[in-house]
Amino acid sequence: MPYQYDDQNIFARILRGEIPNDTVLETVHSLAFNDINPQAPVHVLVIPKGPYVCYHHFAQEAPEAEIIDFNRAIAEVCRITGVAPDGPGDGFRMISNAGRNGVQEVPHMHVHILGGRALGRMLQPAG
Ligand code: 5GP
Repeated sequence: MPYQYDDQNIFARILRGEIPNDTVLETVHSLAFNDINPQAPVHVLVIPKGPYVCYHHFAQEAPEAEIIDFNRAIAEVCRITGVAPDGPGDGFRMISNAGRNGVQEVPHMHVHILGGRALGRMLQPAG
């Protein structure tokens, strides 16, 4: 079934400037901003500007220029926030929740960049 993008989602509204955000980086095709409810000292959301529902949608349908821009933006966010493995923050975790079992709350493609402390094991039991 084709993905249906809801342009009233909160990140679409951030992209249109209807809701403020704490921007970390903006590129031609991507925006990175601090999560409103951080789970670690560094918790940045990186989103493409295009209308993609989730990572799977983006990876399947985005033009290569957008995919490259997005990945370079992630690298730059890690450098800016200091969590790149070769920087002072000593590493990060990248998460992209997708769909119901992935417990994705906002239906606009995003990755979470988390770091600034030891993050423990990868998964917790479902609550
Ligand atoms: P998801 O569960 O969809 O992967 O994560 C959505 C994330 O968006 C959550 O970590 C949540 O705190 C964050 N979030 C939700 N609404 C806002 C908002 O208005 N501004 C910002 N900066 N983050 C938000």
